[in-house]
Amino acid sequence: MVRVRFAPSPTGYLHVGALRTALFNWLFARHHQGTFVLRIEDTDVARSSEQMSRSILEALRWVGLDWDEGPIYQSQRLELYRQAARKLVEKGLAYYCFCTPEEIEARRQKTQAQGQHWKYDRRCLKLTESQKEDFRKRGVPAAIRFLVPEGTTQYEDLVHGLISVDNQNLEDFVLLRSDGYPTYHLSVVVDDIDTRITHVIRGDDHISNTPKQILLYQAFGSPVPRFGHLPLILGPDRKKLSKRHGDTSVLHFRDRGYLPLAFFNFMAQLSWSPGQEEKVYSIEEMIREFSLERISKGSPVFDLAKLEWLNSKLINEMPLEELITQLQPWLEKRKLWSESLWREKKSWLEKLVQLIRSRSRTLVDLVEMVAPFICDEVKYEPEAVEKYLTDSRLDVILPRLKEDFAAVSQFTAPELERVLRERAEKEGIKAALLIHGLRVLLLGKAVSPGIFEVIELMGREKTLIRMDNLFLARKSLESKDKNENN
Ligand code: GLU
Repeated sequence: MVRVRFAPSPTGYLHVGALRTALFNWLFARHHQGTFVLRIEDTDVARSSEQMSRSILEALRWVGLDWDEGPIYQSQRLELYRQAARKLVEKGLAYYCFCTPEEIEARRQKTQAQGQHWKYDRRCLKLTESQKEDFRKRGVPAAIRFLVPEGTTQYEDLVHGLISVDNQNLEDFVLLRSDGYPTYHLSVVVDDIDTRITHVIRGDDHISNTPKQILLYQAFGSPVPRFGHLPLILGPDRKKLSKRHGDTSVLHFRDRGYLPLAFFNFMAQLSWSPGQEEKVYSIEEMIREFSLERISKGSPVFDLAKLEWLNSKLINEMPLEELITQLQPWLEKRKLWSESLWREKKSWLEKLVQLIRSRSRTLVDLVEMVAPFICDEVKYEPEAVEKYLTDSRLDVILPRLKEDFAAVSQFTAPELERVLRERAEKEGIKAALLIHGLRVLLLGKAVSPGIFEVIELMGREKTLIRMDNLFLARKSLESKDKNENN
């Protein structure tokens, strides 16, 4: 039975690197009908926060990752780690260390000054019982160090193949600090044993930790799980992905208007390919196709263009109802959603979203495009006004076109087009002058889907009102001029 876990440290927001780890564990668990355990590694009291834990859970839920057990908080299990460390001391597999950081630092410097490589010199391993007693009487706090055995430690990494380390290269690492807090190695192994984890799938940055942890499993007499380390994610410049490449927190992508499924696809396809490149997979398909063997060793590049592509593809392909459900909270936030909008104008909204979705890459784009159809006011982009609304012929012809529009019996795209083209011909101007002008007057900007569909959906009332806005729209040029002169 497969049992995996995701074990974030709540010292910051959930970032994309950690999310990919969560995602692969989750897919692996679901593929094998196994168990996905969530554990919050919050033993670093100074750097962890509850707020971060909450935001990590929020991010996981947004992407659609649910957990079967947990969240287990390590901060609530400190006694368990202490007992485990003491048990190893009793078995002679670990020992108390009374060295202070300053003493260790002094010896390290001395060793290195002699050109030698430093690792903990086992001074406290050689202490007699009475020397230890003496330290205790003086109240010197003790850490517990693991006694690294001789030999080599090796394992078959699920991604990288055989990895082997000479134990001579490992120092007797600390299990329990002198303040009673466990180190990462101790708590992670105690918990993975306790929750019977079968596969540890995590980032490459943990490769060097694994041999130490395998030694710990052996010391505890527990079966060693399989390990798989996922390659580091790179930025477009092929350097380790970091804040320099922009905000990499998961919720940032939610707030930018990406759909959870598009984001899921994008993240899953960093290091793994379900088969076809040009497709948005459903969660069920990804679960079915997922296998650790297909994870590539090379570092994937975090390419936002791919995310955008997936997102707009999904926006265009998903059922309209579902898209509107996703859009609703966004419209609510912008105060563009009302119960009556949904009750009375459902089919109008559906037609509108259908018309504009092909031009939207994100939910933010969609909201921006819906806004002028619902709001009373239009925000005029000065560049658009300058380009299409400064021709003085419009001052005369627009009022006439307005009368034409007021008089059409059917306010439909074909009728509106007919009337507009007739007007252009009568006036001896190109229809484009009116088409571009109307677009800016109605929407405030220079690009939109087919203008006649736009006018039809805008409706007669709003359209006629906005056709009077020439003066108002041109006023936006004043602020532009002002900005340019400053
Ligand atoms: N808490 C560790 C981290 O956030 C993960 C530990 C593990 O997966 O073993 O990097």
